[in-house]
Amino acid sequence: MLDFKHVKKSFKNVPVLNDLNLHINKGELFVLVGPSGSGKTTTLKMINRLIDPMSGTIEFEGQNINKIPLHDLRSQIGYVLQQIALFPNMTVAENISLLPDLQKWPKDKQRKRVDDLLLGVGLPPEDYRKRMPSDLSGGEQQRIGILRAIATEPKLILMDEPFSALDPISKKTLQDVVINLHEELHNTIVFITHDMSEALRLGTRIGIMHDGNLIQVGTPDEIRRAPKNSFVSEFFGLDQ
Ligand code: ATP
Repeated sequence: MLDFKHVKKSFKNVPVLNDLNLHINKGELFVLVGPSGSGKTTTLKMINRLIDPMSGTIEFEGQNINKIPLHDLRSQIGYVLQQIALFPNMTVAENISLLPDLQKWPKDKQRKRVDDLLLGVGLPPEDYRKRMPSDLSGGEQQRIGILRAIATEPKLILMDEPFSALDPISKKTLQDVVINLHEELHNTIVFITHDMSEALRLGTRIGIMHDGNLIQVGTPDEIRRAPKNSFVSEFFGLDQ
């Protein structure tokens, strides 16, 4: 699904990504984890071309992303950010269905889609459809942000530390929402976090970044059993 080949990036001559090589399979819930400043967001933003690499290539379904028209590329990718970006003057239903691709659907189909999505994350549509974002908790707002990103069933969903501002209970509930959505839709998700327990809980595979390098890639079990070096074992709190 995604292939990074020898991708490098510097900002003002400071290297941020050093020769990144990474393959993400279709249907994975791939978690990129690492300390602040290790290059996770830069990596994610390259996938939907918010940042361009200095060298190297990124392929989406075998095609160089620079050769895919920007609108085509982005319409296949959902994006969930840490800062909830709901439009304050629009209702929950309007926020979920505002993507142009969904706006093309007939109104009754749009409405059914919104209701199904709300039900799927435990928010009764009759209560939530017409609410304004200011009448939602932080966790509920983030749920709506996720629903907007998945409303058109994009092939790929990028999530950049979506739950880092939430309390532990809301965080766990929302992690369950992501796990359930992934099990149901089988789409590919790339999820960024600096929280190792979140990475171990969510990831079907995990990539660990440190100082612009991808140190280790493996399943949670592989990483628990055989951390590659002392940085990985310390970061995950494992005994080596
Ligand atoms: P965090 O967990 O704090 O979000 P991160 O692992 O996602 O960190 P990045 O946001 O990818 O890290 O940033 C990697 C490095 O690149 C950091 O040192 C950051 O200051 C730097 N950086 C990112 N964007 C820019 C920019 N536009 N100009 C200059 N430096 C930048």
